[in-house]
Amino acid sequence: MLAFIIMDYWWIAIPGVLLGLYAQIKVTSTYAHYVRVATRAGLTGAQAAREILDAAGLQDMPVEEVGGHLTDHYDPTKRALFLSSENFHGSSIAAVGVAAHEAGHALQHKAAYAPLHMRMAMVPITQFASIAWAGIFLLGLVFGMFYQFLGIAIAIFTVIALFQLITLPVEFDASRRAKVQLLKLGLVSGDESAGVNKVLNAAALTYVAALVTSVLQLLQFVMIARGQSRD
Ligand SMILES: [Zn+2]
Repeated sequence: MLAFIIMDYWWIAIPGVLLGLYAQIKVTSTYAHYVRVATRAGLTGAQAAREILDAAGLQDMPVEEVGGHLTDHYDPTKRALFLSSENFHGSSIAAVGVAAHEAGHALQHKAAYAPLHMRMAMVPITQFASIAWAGIFLLGLVFGMFYQFLGIAIAIFTVIALFQLITLPVEFDASRRAKVQLLKLGLVSGDESAGVNKVLNAAALTYVAALVTSVLQLLQFVMIARGQSRD
């Protein structure tokens, strides 16, 4: 019954899992380090985001506080920035870096940056794919009915992998915009910028790991399907 968890070619997914673990450790340790290093300018994450948004003519965009750890995000439907309490009130290199990154997404939106719009358009279908995958996963787990749904699983992971692929330029570009604005507006100095880079690069690695994991999972299903068609 649990056969599909230890399915054929299960080992294909291992590098993705290891990379994911490494990325998690890296982002946690890098953030933990730079959250204790204050910027000389002394602005909080909320103030830094405000400066960047104002400089881009986005004075009306709210910067709000949200609960949880590293829950920071830009909401394109609400056209609002949400920063976790730690980054909202904190004036560390980590707080200012993350806040500037989220402001970077707002700048993308204002600039009608194409990958951001492609990603936004893919959100509903990706959400549907994730729910469908949960359903198939459950059927496989409870009834051992996974192999009948192999084609659907391949379609689902194709959607998820494409979403994660389009996420990469969006995330890297937001960090690039963040670093430019932080330096230009004097919110961090040249040497502090290296710390911002480390925090944002570590965060970006988690998106790379997610993509690698999905692609390998997809490859696993394709290999199984090929094996079946040969039987
Ligand atoms: Zn981002």
